[in-house]
Amino acid sequence: MRTDLAVIGAGPAGLAAALAASARGVRVALVDAAPGPGGQFYRQPAAGLGATRPEALHHRRRTWERLRDGLAAAAVDILTEHHVWCAEPVSGGFTVHALLGPGQEEPAEVHARALLLATGGHETVLPFPGWTLPGVVTAGGAQAMLKGGLVVPGGRAVVAGTGPLLLPVATGLAAAGVEVAALVESTGPGRLARHARALAGKVPEGAGYAARLLRHRVPVLTRHTVVAAHGEDRLTGVTIAALGPDDRVRPGTERRLDCDTLAVGHGMVPHTDLAGALGCRLDGLGVAVDAEQRTDVPGVWAAGETTGIGGAALALAEGHIAGSSAAARLRGTDPAPAPAALKSRARQRSSAAALDTAWAPPAHWAEQLTGDTVICRCEEVTAGDVRGALDLGAGDERTVKLLTRAGMGWCQGRMCHTAVAALAGRRPTPPGRPFARPVPLGVLARQHTEKGQS
Ligand SMILES: Cc1cc2nc3c(=O)[nH]c(=O)nc-3n(C[C@H](O)[C@H](O)[C@H](O)COP(=O)(O)OP(=O)(O)OC[C@H]3O[C@@H](n4cnc5c(N)ncnc54)[C@H](O)[C@@H]3O)c2cc1C
Repeated sequence: MRTDLAVIGAGPAGLAAALAASARGVRVALVDAAPGPGGQFYRQPAAGLGATRPEALHHRRRTWERLRDGLAAAAVDILTEHHVWCAEPVSGGFTVHALLGPGQEEPAEVHARALLLATGGHETVLPFPGWTLPGVVTAGGAQAMLKGGLVVPGGRAVVAGTGPLLLPVATGLAAAGVEVAALVESTGPGRLARHARALAGKVPEGAGYAARLLRHRVPVLTRHTVVAAHGEDRLTGVTIAALGPDDRVRPGTERRLDCDTLAVGHGMVPHTDLAGALGCRLDGLGVAVDAEQRTDVPGVWAAGETTGIGGAALALAEGHIAGSSAAARLRGTDPAPAPAALKSRARQRSSAAALDTAWAPPAHWAEQLTGDTVICRCEEVTAGDVRGALDLGAGDERTVKLLTRAGMGWCQGRMCHTAVAALAGRRPTPPGRPFARPVPLGVLARQHTEKGQS
């Protein structure tokens, strides 16, 4: 299909961008791998489940309804179940290459004059002994099961790690009938207090969660961490411990909590594969953008968590600004984004920076990795294997990968990248994958043949 603007990602950023661009007279294709628009924050239960009160699982439901109704009325082509594996510049614009449906084998292409990347982020996974046991899920995964599948991962859960996402997960599970044995948060009130000014706007939301935790009698343990998960065939409990002033586990504070579910989260990292392959400059782990959300590649915009982790409100503001700019540049008019979006972006960006520092994982978490702790679950590579590679002289993630296969599996290092970098004593860097999704060789070969013939 041909369009003016292809927006990749239909989360808060992509939805706001598509609506802003379409309202300014530009034809938009909104492309997403999921079965319906909404992204992570506005994930909807599958229609076949017949949810009677979907609003019970969502905060800020009215914003979603506004976006959903706006989309229904707008001239936007919604292309769901399109897994984009690459976008490439061609004469007159870009070609977006996708694989269709759950099988991801049938190719599809979208040709657009401009591209807007709103691909969000994915969770940071930090391994610990026992983390691959059935019953251990990511915090976002537990939330996705609840919001999208209307199911709970178990009957008695510990929610652990660090970050604001733990709050909706713990309260959501408790409200759905799960006994939440504890919310184990590695950061403490002292660290949050240091960022009190930047976080002031988040206080009412935080107070709401605190009230719900109290109502569901969820014990909250701050400055604690999970050191191991236990069980034979599946999870039966976890060991937690207190953290000392040096951010290390305080010896003698370990204790066991029985549970059949551990929902663990340590923040998120931006999805930058498509941007990286297009040659967009990155700033830290996110895509670098200017005041109009333009990347440094002409014709490519980026918005939302692909540019840095900051939450749904920031994604909405950035999406609106990016969509307004893309439409204006395509039509040769003035972007004129809503002043409220500019104000919201400025406010949310300053609290996002504070959130990032306040909710960092414990500095020495990698010291807890025993030799037999699995690091790369796709290729079954342990911490011992990685340390062995480092002893042989591997100084970075890439050399560790060549020596151990860590990061060569289906997820292409999305799960193990941070852990391998930590074991190597390095800060994680964007991995630079040529494709955002695994692609069948047949699809690549067919494309090569078609190009050769044209
Ligand atoms: C699992 C999970 C659960 C979360 N739950 C909460 C919560 O309960 N409360 C809260 O405040 N915050 C939550 N967050 C964070 C919140 O969702 C984000 O702050 C917000 O959604 C960011 O909006 P976005 O538009 O940038 O990205 P997203 O909402 O992540 O949307 C990105 C979209 O891009 C699509 N996409 C990505 N790559 C491709 C590709 N290659 N091809 C096609 N489509 C692609 C994805 O399918 C997705 O729909 C959660 C995050 C995650 C990862």
